[in-house]
Amino acid sequence: MKPLKLIPAVKDYIWGGNRLKEEYGVESPLEKQAEAWVLSCHKDGESVVSGGRYDGMTLSQVIAEKGKDCLGKNAERFDYFPILIKLIDAKDNLSVQVHPDDKYAMENEGQYGKTEAWYILDCEEGAELIYGLRQSMTKQELRASIENGTLLDGLNRVKVKKGDIFLIQSGTVHAIGKGILLAEIQQNSNVTYRVYDYGRLQNGKPRELHIDKAVDVINLNPVLAGGEPQGEREELDGFCKTLLVSCDLFTVNRLEIEEKASLCADETSFVSLVAVDGNGVLMKDDITMTLYKGESIFVPASFGEFDILGNVTVLETRV
Ligand code: ZN
Repeated sequence: MKPLKLIPAVKDYIWGGNRLKEEYGVESPLEKQAEAWVLSCHKDGESVVSGGRYDGMTLSQVIAEKGKDCLGKNAERFDYFPILIKLIDAKDNLSVQVHPDDKYAMENEGQYGKTEAWYILDCEEGAELIYGLRQSMTKQELRASIENGTLLDGLNRVKVKKGDIFLIQSGTVHAIGKGILLAEIQQNSNVTYRVYDYGRLQNGKPRELHIDKAVDVINLNPVLAGGEPQGEREELDGFCKTLLVSCDLFTVNRLEIEEKASLCADETSFVSLVAVDGNGVLMKDDITMTLYKGESIFVPASFGEFDILGNVTVLETRV
């Protein structure tokens, strides 16, 4: 099976801007492009194959037809496509929210929970995000602060810069702040409990809050400071590789390619390539596929060695 170029599903949530369309080549008739789901088998927004034999099919359909071997051995432990990758343009603040862990989500929603990672692609000066509690609280204190409108005072605000990475384990209360453009690599789930929405209205009404469930699942202790990649920047032949984050669900490397990177998709995992800056080309034998800023390629497991040529920064994700 050859690699697949993917067209994202695009979401026009109220807080989105237009940078994904203007700077990342995301095509959409929508007025706002808040999120582009660049690697998705989720029913709420599937990635669609562009070009080649499977042109126009969803990635899920191709996997159903080809069989799960194309996901690799490490994906066998999941009974669903394990990850979802999005580009997110927060022109305005996102709601303050939390995602449950697998156990709680299965018992209450019949879906998996969600752990996610954020890689900051760009941000305005002074932009910040919310990442856990500032100090430990009891459940009663947390509930009281939500009900009396002082929740924001108890949340940990972190100033961000381009290249920062944050791992948001399920249970960590969080929010993307305005002026941040990021890539999100997450467990494939859409279960979100919203706790605060800045008093905004959508179609004249406030969006629903899920306070009881949020109080059930929020981690009541602060999380360790994030921001730094887990690994060192390694100089390799033609490119630099940095381990951004590795958890039990996924591993993400940043590849800063100046001329050429020789990569491999072995039998353990498929490889997701998302170009976040510059332009490149994936090549192997008679295969040539563009990997321009904003584009996403799914490389099946056991595809073997291949090259990326060009001057391009790529997020490389495996499970
Ligand atoms: Zn989230």
